Amino acid sequence: MSAKTQSPVGSEAIELKGWLAAHKYLLLRRTTQLLFLALFLIGPWFGIWWVKGNLAASMTLDILPLADPLMLLQSALAGHWPEQTALVGALIVAVTYALIGGRVYCSWVCPINIVTDASHWLHDRLGLPKGWQPKANTRYFMLTAILIASAMTGTLAFELVNPITMLHRGLVFGLGFAWTFVIGIFLFDVLLARRGWCSHLCPVGAFYGLLGSKALLRVSATDRAACDDCMDCFAVCPEMHVITPALRGRSEDTPIILSRDCTNCGRCIDVCSVSVFQFTHRFDQRPSPGRTSGKSKLAHKATEAA
Ligand code: SF4
Ligand code: SF4
Repeated sequence: MSAKTQSPVGSEAIELKGWLAAHKYLLLRRTTQLLFLALFLIGPWFGIWWVKGNLAASMTLDILPLADPLMLLQSALAGHWPEQTALVGALIVAVTYALIGGRVYCSWVCPINIVTDASHWLHDRLGLPKGWQPKANTRYFMLTAILIASAMTGTLAFELVNPITMLHRGLVFGLGFAWTFVIGIFLFDVLLARRGWCSHLCPVGAFYGLLGSKALLRVSATDRAACDDCMDCFAVCPEMHVITPALRGRSEDTPIILSRDCTNCGRCIDVCSVSVFQFTHRFDQRPSPGRTSGKSKLAHKATEAA
């Protein structure tokens, strides 16, 4: 293992770019996550009803309906055909995430992401092993299961346990049963499975990933030839398998991260000290040379120094 891979994740980016630049997208994400949460909470907490509802279904300023398409799908399968307003709201949400990336919902909107990122931080601080790692496609089985359960029981099956809804309910109604689910997810990720919930099991993340399979907004390893193998992008990425094809590809392969699992969180951009990654669109045709040899720059430096 090189000296660089042993240094704390992101430390070189902080040194070269400054702390703010090395946390830019993380700070922006936390701001949007908390902003969405605040918009939903200022109604019940302070009587300011700019937004009524929650992430499942809402009305903003009495004119903009938004609805979770997965919730509506469960409702339709359960035999309750949604009202026209809810259908329009679901269509707006579906088109938006289909364009900007389905899992943008995960990293920029969903409040559970803050909980699972905190779990991940604690898991790493405690130096715990990865633990149980469900297969990558387990979340699609979960998605299929909740849809079948909705159809068979005539209920919105997942909404009975959905930690996103539970977190919202817990914040509105205070201490109670709803927190059990949120704390359960936190402890599950810390003690049983590193990044277990969001990266392996959550059917909402799976659904939004499918929704954004062909999204326009993409992260690209545009300057991959500059990669010095510090591995910091892999360390911060919640779906690290998405990076390899783009970063390690040959010159004729696309540097664009096309996997539907990428959450467009931008953390790989933050922590890369040599600015390999950037946001772009899926049709970006700029040439992006791969490595000129099997050895990385870091390996070359080590050879020269020897
Ligand atoms: S995977 Fe599920 S819980 Fe995690 S951020 Fe995405 S929607 Fe929220
Ligand atoms: S590849 Fe980058 S933007 Fe995509 S999930 Fe990983 S860290 Fe986030």
